[in-house]
Amino acid sequence: MNLSLTLQNIARHLPDRPAISSEGSRLAYGAFEHQVQHMAGGLAERHGLKPGARVALVMENCPELLPALYAIWRAGLAAVPINSKLHAREMAWIMADAEVKLCLATPKLADGLSAPGVATGTLPPIVATGSADYAGLFKSAPVSTVPGDAEAEAWIFYTSGTTGRPKGALLTHRNLLFACHCYYADIDYIGPDDTILHAAPLTHGSGLYGLAHIARGSHNVILPGSFEPEHVLDALVAYANVSMFAAPTMVSRLINHPRAGSADTRGLKTIIYGGAPMYVADLKRALSLLGPKLYQLYGQGESPMTITGLDKALHADAGHPRYEERLGSAGLARTGVAVKVVNEAGRELPAGEVGEIVTRSDCVMKGYWNNPAANAQALRQGWLWTGDLGSMDGEGFLTLKDRSKDLIISGGANIYPREVEEVLLTHPAVLEAAVVSRPHADWGEEVIAYVVKRAGTDTSSEELDRLCLDNIARFKRPKGYRFVEALPKNNYGKILKTELRAQLKLEGQR
Ligand code: AMP
Repeated sequence: MNLSLTLQNIARHLPDRPAISSEGSRLAYGAFEHQVQHMAGGLAERHGLKPGARVALVMENCPELLPALYAIWRAGLAAVPINSKLHAREMAWIMADAEVKLCLATPKLADGLSAPGVATGTLPPIVATGSADYAGLFKSAPVSTVPGDAEAEAWIFYTSGTTGRPKGALLTHRNLLFACHCYYADIDYIGPDDTILHAAPLTHGSGLYGLAHIARGSHNVILPGSFEPEHVLDALVAYANVSMFAAPTMVSRLINHPRAGSADTRGLKTIIYGGAPMYVADLKRALSLLGPKLYQLYGQGESPMTITGLDKALHADAGHPRYEERLGSAGLARTGVAVKVVNEAGRELPAGEVGEIVTRSDCVMKGYWNNPAANAQALRQGWLWTGDLGSMDGEGFLTLKDRSKDLIISGGANIYPREVEEVLLTHPAVLEAAVVSRPHADWGEEVIAYVVKRAGTDTSSEELDRLCLDNIARFKRPKGYRFVEALPKNNYGKILKTELRAQLKLEGQR
């Protein structure tokens, strides 16, 4: 079924409940559905868009984004939400790749796209929020009939680009509805008294979780600008039953904020973190400050938010003999999702052995748009090959090692950077750590650690070396340390190891 049905159903039942709030503006569910009906009419009538056509959403987090998304769906079109922090040229590239027919944008981003030299080909028409053309979209006859095709493309998710050129994962209505159902089955039961705080981009995980909350009539609260711990802490006082999606780096900024220790966090229901490794030391600190309100997800754009998860009860089960191991894992297969660790031939590996993680479920994308080579690689006999390495224990807990390309091979031995990072992060002066490889004449590769020190503290490479010697095999310990002010991160807060490797290469050339 088309996702815009979930809005129609809830709007009929709870027209006056708040649906979307943002800096003083508030839209109730009835008005939300009303906007969607008219805008769906406008998209078809004013722009002549036929079912299946693609519409880009180039917007920072703003109150217009979710109504535009549901209107696109009501009109039987597909959305291409684009990360607002990309360069205008990258946005133009995505729009050309996805053959977008119309772009809805916030004014500043619309201007950026129209600047000379941005697009190599022609751009689609761009309609900016707040313009007369945007207002004109709401003047057509309403569309209340919901299209019925669950296999139609709903969201073309351009992968965040930690690896190479972005690829457009085609996510259908069925994929996204399955992700919503998994949210209720595995994370929380939610309803009209719940709030979802959008402090992370709506074009990524936060928006995907917004769908689960809209279907249940919860309140979507959009915070201004980019992630600010201050705003989050204030919102936890202003709203009740608050859930939010946060990248691990955001959780870490939140718990390291000076107000974190004394803040009133009773309004918090759940922080769902994931998308990158969250280290056990940070996790323990988060649990001690916030209580057992953390859920870890492991997913990727190709199987949005839904492969495995570590639920709140497992986070709270501190007495379990393998508690630490479990905290360092990405949890168990989500409800109705198959997950295996396989060798290169696709054969399932025994418990504890490291191989590639593959998954199969109704959440797995239809395929990449216009990319047969990538499809042949990623989709084999119904399974999605994630490109992530991991191992599974006898109980089904999956532990992620690293993306295949992050693996370091030194003197023939495999070193998973995460193992080393976990150890470094147990040092009280280490705020962030990223371990990468540097080519080495004898060993093939050697391990280098980038470290950000916690404010007001100090440590040295000798001290960290001692810590590693005490905790991990000698061959895994970093052969060099770089103390830096900050680590390079992409717009979703993921550490860009490619940049660190490039820095090391430059050092080598000097
Ligand atoms: P994206 O497609 O941008 O959502 O990125 C997905 C990738 O993020 C996955 O393939 C993993 O490499 C990584 N990732 C997602 N969840 C986790 C997690 N819980 N722990 C570690 N890495 C993760």
